[in-house]
Amino acid sequence: MHRQQTIIEESLKAIMEDEEFLPDLKAQTREQAYSSLVALLSTPNHVHKSFLRITLENGTIVRIPAFRVQHSDTVGPYKGGIRFHETVDEDETSNLAKLMTLKNALHELPFGGGKGGVVINPKEYSVKELNLICKKYVQYFNDILGPDKDIPAPDVGTGEREMDWMMGEFKNIHPGEPYRNSFTGKSVVNGGSLGRREATGKGVYFTYRYLLKNFVSQNRKWLRDTENTFAHTALDHADKKLKVAVQGFGNLGSVAALEAYQCNDLQNRIVAVSDANVMLYNEDGLDIPGLIQYTKENDGDLPTTEEVLQENDLKAEVRNRDDLLELDVDVLFLAALEDQIHEENKENIKARIIVEGANGPITEEADKYLADKGVLIIPDILANAGGVIVSYYEWVQGREAQFLTEDEVFERLFNKMRVTMDTILPQFFGDPFPLRQNCYIHSVMKLSTIMYRQGKLY
Ligand code: GLU
Repeated sequence: MHRQQTIIEESLKAIMEDEEFLPDLKAQTREQAYSSLVALLSTPNHVHKSFLRITLENGTIVRIPAFRVQHSDTVGPYKGGIRFHETVDEDETSNLAKLMTLKNALHELPFGGGKGGVVINPKEYSVKELNLICKKYVQYFNDILGPDKDIPAPDVGTGEREMDWMMGEFKNIHPGEPYRNSFTGKSVVNGGSLGRREATGKGVYFTYRYLLKNFVSQNRKWLRDTENTFAHTALDHADKKLKVAVQGFGNLGSVAALEAYQCNDLQNRIVAVSDANVMLYNEDGLDIPGLIQYTKENDGDLPTTEEVLQENDLKAEVRNRDDLLELDVDVLFLAALEDQIHEENKENIKARIIVEGANGPITEEADKYLADKGVLIIPDILANAGGVIVSYYEWVQGREAQFLTEDEVFERLFNKMRVTMDTILPQFFGDPFPLRQNCYIHSVMKLSTIMYRQGKLY
């Protein structure tokens, strides 16, 4: 039920056992503080649920389950995406909201964590019906949303179009009030930020490249001398030609794949990409710009037959999408959904570096198994924060009604990610915890310090 619970508890234990952390907290109080923090992190503040009443174009009335989970507002207003997917449920949304709390705290954003979801496959609804679903979502959750209360953004199955519709409805309901920063991930013409669309994919690639290229080359000797197995995994991969597979070719996977394709200071060869229908494989490397062009013209889907590939001058073998994770590659980018690497396939994973673009793509058991084998996992809350970081810049731009250029946005994004990495990586390579746990430790330290200073931990 509570994913990553063990690792969160271990992180809390580690900080509470460290007497240099909040030195005024007495020993007995430290134990109480530990239990309070476990309870606060494992349970969201609020779970809001509704059934959106929608009249379909054929006249039928349906009731669609919809959620908004507000996990923590310790650091600031609730912040996190809204997912449109058939697998959405309360448990998943709560876990994703918790990850947002940890992610926002890790990157020092002034936000708490939240997440929303609607249980639909958006491809089965007309544009008019989707518009209605978005408006109803805002109507039902109107009381709890707002620029200083809870600020949604896109997630799987939603994008600029949906955020524009939702912001439009928020503006209708609140005439004369600030509305521009009630939603982020909007289109630029509607108050969105330049660069927001590419931000998650670019950030995912940036973290991977920064770790393997910048950090490793600046700390080569130290890394070589340490006994930390992850340091050796990183060193082994820093200078070699890397075979890469990307699971998921939506807004995140395709941008990360393009960054990898275009980057010439790390030698990536993207041999495989997959989406919900198919895996495409080419031992010599895929034509990523060509595939992106194809998906743009075909409702986001990759080509599924050899004939279509040939017609479009694309060279690849068509394979089963589920085999991608077990390919003999060096690096896996996970950019699809959660729980992709689990109990059943964990032993077949050959990649030594895994970058989590999606939220929670590895189950807790599989994560432990892979970490014990020295597989270097760049966790979701570190790697995929580009989206919410640029959401933060969008929120600030909306408040000030002053807008940044695309170059300024990316410069700020990469600087922010660099600062986080420079804080976390020396700790990570210096002590025995996997990178995920180092990130969690940093996040929970921030949350507990704020709670302590606000008089909520004694
Ligand atoms: N849905 C994205 C995430 O999981 C972005 C959230 C946001 O921008 O608020 O990080």
